[in-house]
Amino acid sequence: MELDNILIKILGIPSPWKLKKVEVVHVADVVRIEIDYLRNSTFPCANCGKESKVHDGSYREWRHLDFMQYKTYLNVKTSRTKCKECGILTLKEMPFGRMGIHYTFFLND
Ligand SMILES: [Zn+2]
Repeated sequence: MELDNILIKILGIPSPWKLKKVEVVHVADVVRIEIDYLRNSTFPCANCGKESKVHDGSYREWRHLDFMQYKTYLNVKTSRTKCKECGILTLKEMPFGRMGIHYTFFLND
C-alpha cells in the first residue's frame, strides 16, 4: 500500500475533498499534506445551507497530530461560495478544523 493510500484511509478525507500532494521535509521532520476538492464541487451556503458553486478558494494550514516523529500539517483548500440568495460567503463547516484556529479538531479535543 502506497503512502498516499495509507494517508487517505487514516485521515478519512470526506468527499468532495481529495488528497492532492504529500511533501516530506526530512531536514525539518515535517510532513505537509495538501488537500484539495474535486473540480465543480458545490458546498452548502454558510447562511441558508443551499448547495452553491465555488466562487474562489485558498489554502489554510492546520497543525495535525504527528505522523511518527514528523510534525504534520494539513494544507486544505477552503472556499467561498456564491449563493444566489446570500452572495459570497466563506464556508461554515470544514472537515478538519475551524477558520481562525491553527490546529485540527484532533489537537483541540
Ligand atoms: Zn445562501
